[in-house]
Amino acid sequence: MTQQDNKLFDIPADDNEAALREASKRIDALRREIEHHTYLYYALDAPEITDFAYDSLMRELRELEDKHPELIVATSPTRRVGGYVGEQFAPVTHEQRMYSLDNAMDLEELDAWMTKIEETYGHLPELCCELKIDGSSIALTYEDGVLVRAATRGDGTTGEDVTANIRTIKDIPLHLRDEAMPAVDPAFSSIELRGEVYMPKSSFEALNHAAEANGKAPFANPRNAAAGSLRQKDPHITAGRDLSTFIYAVANTASLEVSGQWELLQWLKSAGFHVNPDVAKCKTREEVKDFCKASLEKRDSLAYEIDGVVVKVNSFAEQAASGFTSHAPRWAIAYKFPPEEKTTVLTDITVQVGRTGVLTPVAELSPVVVAGSTVSRATLHNEDEVHRKDVRIGDTVIVRKAGDVIPEVLGPVLALRPDDALVWQAPKTCPSCGMPVIREAGESALRCVSIDCPAQALERLLHWASREAMDIDGMGEEIIGRLVEVGRVSDVADYYSLTQADLEMLDMGRTNKDGNPIHLGTTVALKLLDAIEQSKSRSFDRVIGGLGIRHVGKNTARDLAEAFPSMEAIASAEIDELSEIHGIGERVAKAIWVFFRTPDNVQVIERLQAAGVTMAASTGEADDTPKTLAGLTFVLTGSLDELGLTRDEASDRLRLMGAKMSSSVSGKTSFVVAGTAAGSKYDKAIKLGVPVLDEAQLARIFETGQPPVV
Ligand code: NAD
Repeated sequence: MTQQDNKLFDIPADDNEAALREASKRIDALRREIEHHTYLYYALDAPEITDFAYDSLMRELRELEDKHPELIVATSPTRRVGGYVGEQFAPVTHEQRMYSLDNAMDLEELDAWMTKIEETYGHLPELCCELKIDGSSIALTYEDGVLVRAATRGDGTTGEDVTANIRTIKDIPLHLRDEAMPAVDPAFSSIELRGEVYMPKSSFEALNHAAEANGKAPFANPRNAAAGSLRQKDPHITAGRDLSTFIYAVANTASLEVSGQWELLQWLKSAGFHVNPDVAKCKTREEVKDFCKASLEKRDSLAYEIDGVVVKVNSFAEQAASGFTSHAPRWAIAYKFPPEEKTTVLTDITVQVGRTGVLTPVAELSPVVVAGSTVSRATLHNEDEVHRKDVRIGDTVIVRKAGDVIPEVLGPVLALRPDDALVWQAPKTCPSCGMPVIREAGESALRCVSIDCPAQALERLLHWASREAMDIDGMGEEIIGRLVEVGRVSDVADYYSLTQADLEMLDMGRTNKDGNPIHLGTTVALKLLDAIEQSKSRSFDRVIGGLGIRHVGKNTARDLAEAFPSMEAIASAEIDELSEIHGIGERVAKAIWVFFRTPDNVQVIERLQAAGVTMAASTGEADDTPKTLAGLTFVLTGSLDELGLTRDEASDRLRLMGAKMSSSVSGKTSFVVAGTAAGSKYDKAIKLGVPVLDEAQLARIFETGQPPVV
């Protein structure tokens, strides 16, 4: 390189290399992160970050790749349509690829896109603006006017055959209407139409309400509920989910005698499809932006979720002239609405008592719809947090959903603070039992230490029945609450003396339309009795964890189960003996010791034992599983919904194969398995370069008995 060449670069060669290395590392981390969220979103319908956050990651990756084209690979998420093709449905190869859309994050970016379009065509073409329906893409194939196949978008090239499920959606015509047929080009015996399957907001609320009442995990938002409902193995379940559609595209424009998007929408209506009425044909930029602004204002009043506006070049001939990038058409853009934050009034701050007596302040809010569902409560975590955020009763507060799921109070709108806004005072006594509460040195939590506290008792009952403890399927909050109210259950051992009569005649505290009380009924009662019976044989560590001993979470319970052969041995261990166990410090040892010296607890354990609940480590047959994973340390994070296993069950299987299980990620971790809603452990794995496996890879380990190849 000559002296002059050198001047062209401000950065010396070494620095260039370092910058490239840095960019390569960042690109790698971003790709892994995006792939992880793509999987959660499309395969499991359970996102853990907002769309806005996801789009920001994608944007950063795209910018870095633009800057360093030498680092682009064909498998980068920026080059692909981010979908998923599961194995439970037959694959369908799309004759015409199903694309995604490029995004404009604000009106300025939308304007920049229109400038680009204007440059491409030499004029601003007519644009068709439609609402961006927040649902799941669908492709419908009609042969000679009859619906023969329906497929999801999948990865854009291959989708999943969901015909049986789609047939259950009432607004999808099984035949095209006769008056629409003359526009179909006779050379095409088959035409493919595309649109969005969505779940109305009210149906989503009802579905989640029912899920919560039955102790099941709710869907994050209507989009995930629609996608999840569409991908059910049993079409009867889909049929019960109240799905609707809006159809807005044809795969091959040559198959129809229509000249543009606007005309297509009119044709789709005539053919019998449900077509969204909010659409505008625009000639100027201002008209487009006005449509976007009006749609944003309208968003809340619509019966379904929208997440933006799709702007498309109207004429099919002009669309064809600009074509597609690797993942999206050049002739369309999605203007995305900003993340939803709402203001509402904080009507009160109540206090919830947890199973170990921790008092949590909860914001009671005037109900407000945020990101698709009604929010009326949000945790304020602890006393310090309430004061740090300076939220007062009567304040107007800003509410958002963290990770699109958990409602969060961001802070007050000070300008709207009324003169009589009340500063919250932490309670001095437990709101449930009235006993004094304490705050221990170094802790942020207030705690009720009474052993007779009814709120703690209810939380302990919920915890015992929960999925992560004894997993009594169907024993949810509503039923437990009723059992406590009628005085049939007051501690966890009472579950095991419930009879069919107790359950089937349980008064649910509601009446039917004739005014008669609703009882739980025989079907549910029998299912619950079966689930209670099954829970008796849960593993020893789950029983220990289910007892709700203070400071004893799942991992400590497992450590205890590994160190002691039986409950009796734990109960008689002294503090120093307990604190010798790996992972158990003196504070935890003391809590365990106190628990087993409390007569009420001893009595409950004796009754559990008498009922036949596991009270010792398994003494089953000799284990002859080959220890193919010996020397490898695994960390599991997130839930393993695809595999249908709890983390504990998966851990047990890995342990049986010789793996060491750990609860935290370090440089010594061999693999992190990330399930749905994997959190900080996943981030740490990425940071430390620890290989991350998905559920499919874990399934392969179970199948082959061999460690993964990464
Ligand atoms: P997209 O949602 O940004 O847009 C493309 C889709 O919009 C099309 O495939 C189509 O199904 C739909 N659409 C709705 N109304 C339409 C209309 N009137 N005309 C045309 N298309 C219409 O793209 P995508 O590829 O489906 O998903 C990517 C988006 O998904 C990201 O921008 C992100 O917001 C979200 N995402 C979020 C996460 C997360 O973890 N939160 C993960 C992955 C993806």
